[in-house]
Amino acid sequence: MGLKQFFIQRNPFRKGTRTYSVLHLKCPQCQEADLFLTKNPYDLKLFDKMPDRCPVCNEDFVRETGFYWGAMMVSHATSTVIAVITHVIVHIFYGWAVLPNVFAFLGVFIPLIPVIFRSSRAVWINIFVKYHSRWD
Ligand SMILES: [Zn+2]
Repeated sequence: MGLKQFFIQRNPFRKGTRTYSVLHLKCPQCQEADLFLTKNPYDLKLFDKMPDRCPVCNEDFVRETGFYWGAMMVSHATSTVIAVITHVIVHIFYGWAVLPNVFAFLGVFIPLIPVIFRSSRAVWINIFVKYHSRWD
């Protein structure tokens, strides 16, 4: 195996990995079709809409009633990490002062809500669905 091939196979972001599906918001099974109807997370009418089934491989995106409730745990974990990072940065400049911390967190968190929402759903469905390169 050549060195180039070695790194291609070890690349954690290559197609076929869960990271690829989450970062590109692709169907976890075929990684061809998009998980969401729009690519724009700030299209506030459509950003949370998903097709019922994958248009390429027919994977069921709904799976079961309330399936995506579990994605809230993922988004909670993500929000916590964002809160800690924001606090550490604000703490350097303002110490423990409450208002700068609250405003900094809200200023960072609110614009990221659609992004966190979508990536959390992608992480959640990727826990249960594996990539199949030959799904047909
Ligand atoms: Zn698919």
